[in-house]
Amino acid sequence: MPTAKLGDARTITLPVDLAEKLALAPGTEFKVELDAVGRLLLTPLRQQEPVPAASLAESIKKKNLATGIQLIKGVGPKLAEAFQRLGVTTVEDALYLLPHRYEDRRELRSVGALRPGRTEVFEAVVLSATTSTTKGGRKQYEVLVGDETGSIPLKWFHFNAVWMKKAWHVGRRGIFTGEVNQFGHHREIHHPEVEWLSAEDDIAAVMARDPATYGRIVPVYPLTEGLHQKTMRQVMKQVVDTFAGDLESAIGREILERHHLLPLADAVREAHFPSPEADLAGLNSGATPSHHTLVFDEFFYLELGLALKRRGFTLEEGIAFEVNHTYTRPLLKLLPFTLTHAQRRVLSEIKEDMMAPFPMHRLVQGDVGSGKTMVALMAALVAAENGYQTAIMAPTEILAEQHYLNIHTWCESLGVTVALLTSSQKGKEREALLAQVARGEARIVIGTHAVIQEKVEFHRLGLGIIDEQHRFGVLQRGILKKKGENPDILVMTATPIPRTLAMTVFGDLSLSVIDELPPGRTPIKTRIFAESRRRQVYGQIRDEVSQGRQAYIVCPLVDESEKSELKAATQLAEELQADFFPDLRVGLLHGRLKPEEKEAVMASFKANEIHVLVATTVIEVGIDVPNATVMAIEHAERFGLSQLHQLRGRVGRGAHASHCFLIASDRLSDDGVKRLRVMESTTDGFRIAEADLEIRGPGDFLGTRQAGLPEFRVASILRDGRVLEEARREAFTLVERDPELQLPEHRRLKEEMVKRWGGRLELAGVA
Ligand code: ADP
Ligand code: MG
Repeated sequence: MPTAKLGDARTITLPVDLAEKLALAPGTEFKVELDAVGRLLLTPLRQQEPVPAASLAESIKKKNLATGIQLIKGVGPKLAEAFQRLGVTTVEDALYLLPHRYEDRRELRSVGALRPGRTEVFEAVVLSATTSTTKGGRKQYEVLVGDETGSIPLKWFHFNAVWMKKAWHVGRRGIFTGEVNQFGHHREIHHPEVEWLSAEDDIAAVMARDPATYGRIVPVYPLTEGLHQKTMRQVMKQVVDTFAGDLESAIGREILERHHLLPLADAVREAHFPSPEADLAGLNSGATPSHHTLVFDEFFYLELGLALKRRGFTLEEGIAFEVNHTYTRPLLKLLPFTLTHAQRRVLSEIKEDMMAPFPMHRLVQGDVGSGKTMVALMAALVAAENGYQTAIMAPTEILAEQHYLNIHTWCESLGVTVALLTSSQKGKEREALLAQVARGEARIVIGTHAVIQEKVEFHRLGLGIIDEQHRFGVLQRGILKKKGENPDILVMTATPIPRTLAMTVFGDLSLSVIDELPPGRTPIKTRIFAESRRRQVYGQIRDEVSQGRQAYIVCPLVDESEKSELKAATQLAEELQADFFPDLRVGLLHGRLKPEEKEAVMASFKANEIHVLVATTVIEVGIDVPNATVMAIEHAERFGLSQLHQLRGRVGRGAHASHCFLIASDRLSDDGVKRLRVMESTTDGFRIAEADLEIRGPGDFLGTRQAGLPEFRVASILRDGRVLEEARREAFTLVERDPELQLPEHRRLKEEMVKRWGGRLELAGVA
C-alpha cells in the first residue's frame, strides 16, 4: 500500500480505496506541503524504478521506459547532466524531446548544384583557408571548398584560430552540411558541419556508419551547453531504435481511430527520424500525422485532468438560487442605459449556473470597458435576493475602491448595503465593518484578496467574485470557497485570453465572453512616437487640455523595484509641471500613496481639477474618467501588448475622440516597432492578445508562470488550437460516461493521467 513519507521517520498510510482511486503504486513517495488555506497537498514523486547501472540489456528486456539516460551508450555523467538541463533524465523523457526542425539530407549534391536557402550535404575538398577581417572590422575564418562542378566559400564568425588552422588544411576531403546563403550572385555557407574523410574512405560507407546524420531527413534538436547536435542525434537514434517500440497509448482504440492517430511508437519514431518519403514542410510546421498524434496525446491527458477536476466541482452540493427579481429588476430601471446583448447573454449563463444545485465556477472574459462590473453587480444582487452575501476580490486597493465607488450608489438606492474593506482601516472602524459583515448586514463586501482572506467572517457567503483572475494563482478560488459553504464562484478577467489558452489555464471553469462594447464608445487613435519627438506629444496633450479634456501620462516599471518606478514617475511629474505645463495642474498617482491619498487624487482628476495625471501602472485596471481623452505611454516598448491595451482602455470612454501616444525608444529594433504597430492597427483586445501570445509565449503572456500553466512537451497552444478542442471534447465526453475512470478499460488511462499530472490535480481537494 502506498505510504506518504513525512520527514524521516513519520509515514502515513493511505486508505486502500484512495490509493486505488489515484492509481498509485505501492511504495509511492510524496512531496508533502500545506497550501495557504492549510490543505494538505500530496504530490507523488516521480516513480522511477531504480535501474542498477550496467543493466541496459535487462532494462530493454523489461521494456523499462524509466531507464536512465546515462545507461545509453556514449552518455557519461557530463552528458547526462546536459540532458538533465533539457528536462531529460529517462529514455521516456528523451522520446518526447522532439526535434524543433528538420533538414533534408536525403541527397548528396555536387557543389555546382547547391540550392540557395536550403540545407545541403556535399562532398568537397579544401582549396584554401585564411583568417580575414570583414568591413565591419570583425575577424572571420574563410575556407574555399570545391569539387569538379564548382566552389563555395565557408565562413565562421566565432572560431578558435588554432583549432581551425589544424583542421582546415588544403587538400583535405570531407562531407559538409550547411545552409546555403545567397548574396546577389554570390553563395556562401556559415558555420557548416563537417565529417572528415581520409584518402581511403569510401563516402558511401562513411555515410552508412552514421545513419542518424546522413542520407535522410535529419532532426535538429534543441541543445544546451556541452551537448552537440551530432552527439544528440546519435543518442536519440539509439534511444528511439531501442525504446520507441515500448510506447503504447492508453487512449482507447475508438478515439485513436476517430482522430486518425498513429500508434504512439510509430509517431515517435517518425517524429525523430522521418522516413525517406516524409514531407519536409509538414515536418517543419508540425503538421504531419505523427505530430498530430503526439499533440493529441498530450492535450488529451491535460483535458482529461481538467474534466475530472471540473467533475469534482459539480459533484459537490451547492446553493440553488432563485431569481426573484427583487433587486435586479429595479436596478435595470435605475440604470441610465440598457445592458448590451452580450451582457444579457452572459448574465443568463450566470443565472443558470446560480440556479443549479451545484457550485458555479465560471470565468467571465470581457475586454476593458465591456461592462463586467455591471454583470458582477447583477449576480451579486441575485445572491442578495436570496439572502446571501457576495464577496468581491480585486487585485489592488485602488481597483477595489473603484468597484465600490461604481456600485455603492446603485446599491444604496436599492437598500443593499455595500462594505469596502481596506488595509488602512484600523481599530473601531474596522471592527464595526467586520461586525457588519459577520452579522450579514453588509450584503456585498469588496476588498483586495489579502483583506478578504484575513479575519473576515461572513454570515452567509453565497457568491465569490474574483476580478482580474490572471494576477492570482488558482489558490484564491479555494480561499473564497472556504469562507462559505460551497459558494458560487465567478472569475472576471479583462485580459482577453485567447480561447486556446483560456481552455488550458482555466480549463476547469466554464467560459462566458462579453464580446461587445456598450454603444457610444469613440474609437481610440493610436500613434507611435520616437522619444526624440516627445515634445510633439506634449503639444497634442496641451491642445486637448485647452479644449477642456484631460490626459494620462503613464510611466513603466524601470526595473523590478517599485521604488525606481516611483522615482521615475515623480521626476516626470515635476519635469512636466516645470518645463511643459507650468500653467496646468499636473497630478501624480502611484502605488505607494495611501488609499485616501489615491482617492483624493482620483477625485480631483474626476472633477477636472487635475489636467494631466502622471501615473504608474496602478491605473491599468478599472479607472473610469470619461473626460480623459489622451494617454501618453512612456517607454511603451517595455510593456506587453496586453498591458498596453489595458492601459489604453482608460481613454475612449466618453463622447469625445481619444488618442493614445506610444513613446518608444529611438533605438527600438525592427521587431520592437513591429510589435507596437499591432497597437496602431487594432483596438480589438482579442487580436492584440493573440499577437502578444505569439510574441511572448504563454508563460510571459500571463505575466506569471505560477498560473498553473502546464509545460507542453510537444504541443503548442498557438499552433495546435484545433487539436486542443478535439482532445477536450473527447476527454470531457469520456469523463461524462465514466466520471471516476472506474471502468476496467480506463485503468491504464488513469494511471497515465496521474503520472502526467503529478501533483497538479491537487489530490487532497479541488482548488
Ligand atoms: P469593465 O469592468 O468590463 O472594464 P465596466 O463595468 O467598468 O467595464 O464598465 C465601463 C463603463 O461602462 C462604466 O462606466 C459602466 O457604467 C458603463 N456601462 C456598463 N454597461 C453599459 C451599457 N450596457 N451601456 C452603457 N454603458 C455601460
Ligand atoms: Mg473592470
